[in-house]
Amino acid sequence: MSQQEMTLLCSDCGNGVESLPTVASFRGQETYLFHPIVCVGCLNKTCEQHSTSCANCGEVVLPYSQVGVLKDGGGIYSIVHMTISCLTVGSAFHGFWGKGKLLDFMEIEAC
Ligand SMILES: [Zn+2]
Ligand SMILES: [Zn+2]
Repeated sequence: MSQQEMTLLCSDCGNGVESLPTVASFRGQETYLFHPIVCVGCLNKTCEQHSTSCANCGEVVLPYSQVGVLKDGGGIYSIVHMTISCLTVGSAFHGFWGKGKLLDFMEIEAC
């Protein structure tokens, strides 16, 4: 193993990132981000620009978080928190809310 120091660089602005996870709080919610690597400033900016709101409780849903997805007819979907109170039994999907769009959108197998 080499003793090379790991340099963490923000994937958005290229500045050095001191430690992971990057922690930011936005509208009363905290987010801890390991991947992608971004600095606090960029994470805050991303939260401001790319948050959405939970279809169940109306609170903010931060980027880079696991979400439940409720599908309406016609391919329209709503985002809810991955919490027991917001994620109702009827929801069929979960995904990862990235920068203003769903990533890793997958169907939960009904069993
Ligand atoms: Zn940055
Ligand atoms: Zn919610």
